[in-house]
Amino acid sequence: MTDWDHEADVVVLGSGGAGLTAALTAAVNGATVEVYEKAATVGGTTAVSGGIVWIPAHPRSADGELTAEDAMAYLRAQSLGYMDDELVETFVQSGAPMLDFLEGHSDLVFEVAAGFPDYKPELPGGKPGGGRSLHAGPFDLARLGEWRDRITSFPADFSNVGIDAETRARIHAAVDNESGDYCVAGTALIAGLLHSLLDRGITPHTEARAVELIADPLGITGVRIEQGDRDFRVRAHRGVVLGTGGFEWDQRLVEAYLRGPMRGAVSPPNNTGDGLRMAMAHGADLANMGEAWWVPIVQIPGDTFEGQPRSRSVRLERTRPRSIIVNRAGRRFLNEAGEYNSMAGPFHFLDPKLGYANDPAWIVFDSIHLK
Ligand SMILES: Cc1cc2nc3c(=O)[nH]c(=O)nc-3n(C[C@H](O)[C@H](O)[C@H](O)COP(=O)(O)OP(=O)(O)OC[C@H]3O[C@@H](n4cnc5c(N)ncnc54)[C@H](O)[C@@H]3O)c2cc1C
Repeated sequence: MTDWDHEADVVVLGSGGAGLTAALTAAVNGATVEVYEKAATVGGTTAVSGGIVWIPAHPRSADGELTAEDAMAYLRAQSLGYMDDELVETFVQSGAPMLDFLEGHSDLVFEVAAGFPDYKPELPGGKPGGGRSLHAGPFDLARLGEWRDRITSFPADFSNVGIDAETRARIHAAVDNESGDYCVAGTALIAGLLHSLLDRGITPHTEARAVELIADPLGITGVRIEQGDRDFRVRAHRGVVLGTGGFEWDQRLVEAYLRGPMRGAVSPPNNTGDGLRMAMAHGADLANMGEAWWVPIVQIPGDTFEGQPRSRSVRLERTRPRSIIVNRAGRRFLNEAGEYNSMAGPFHFLDPKLGYANDPAWIVFDSIHLK
């Protein structure tokens, strides 16, 4: 018999986009909710991300309704026959209602991201003119009161060259309102979700790490949390939501599961696969473990962040006119102007030297060489 220290209908672990959205959904549907976050700040990777949500079928595009049929064709064209149609259709059909739900129960407003095409626009059902990528509008941090400074953030120059003028314009990086303290992109998404939860009296517990799921013979009944020198058990009457992010900061899990080498992560260092390990301890089925959100990086000798070698994503500079990427043999081996996520493929498979023998690639700009 477990002694419980706290209880709630739904216990959410992690305060990224997944965790906070789950918490809001449960609360709107009448559940009591507790959110536990391992870091001192909320928002996880989501807060430092571009915050783009890809909703493939919705009626909000200036070009008219984006249909589920086109969306399914586009996703099928990328799946090489491995797609679970029912699961994918659920995702496709749920996107538009999800946007409506969040807008109806928070101050978030989603805008179609201008000039943001599908990543494989040439495929059947692809949208070269964009429309499926949306982002949260700017959010005034001053509205969060004491939580204003408690959203996870990175130094402004987290990429190699920062943000270009087009991106800046797209995400409203210069908001023309001097009385506010506006954030954009993933931070705005988290700020909007957080504001709505705080409004409902749900205050995330920070520096509170979930360490173990507790079960009885019928299933998971709660979770054990460590917070400072406290160790306590929280009963979940209706369920525990694992929103603890990825495992890219756990070298053993990276080597065991990812489909190729990963040299450095560009996310906050708290994603160590805790939820994954807790679920595995109770026999969870796993799938799609080899995939990730991939991006090429550079590491500059001596450049560190929070005591770790710092990885900077290479995003815009590689697509500039007269920029090419070559291997040590001086040969090009990928399309530099392609979207970042697919670039992991050539790194992993087409150039084994780059993937497996620890050889870096060279990015050759007009006159700058970066290793
Ligand atoms: C630079 C960058 C840009 C990106 N841009 C985009 C984009 O524009 N669009 C897109 O779709 N994707 C993007 N991605 C990917 C996307 O950000 C992630 O897939 C997404 O944010 C994951 O959300 P999440 O809520 O699952 O996890 P996270 O946002 O990582 O949140 C997980 C949270 O769980 C906490 N946690 C971990 N372990 C525990 C524990 N034991 N107990 C309690 N809490 C715990 C973590 O501290 C963290 O706060 C980007 C990624 C990066 C790195």
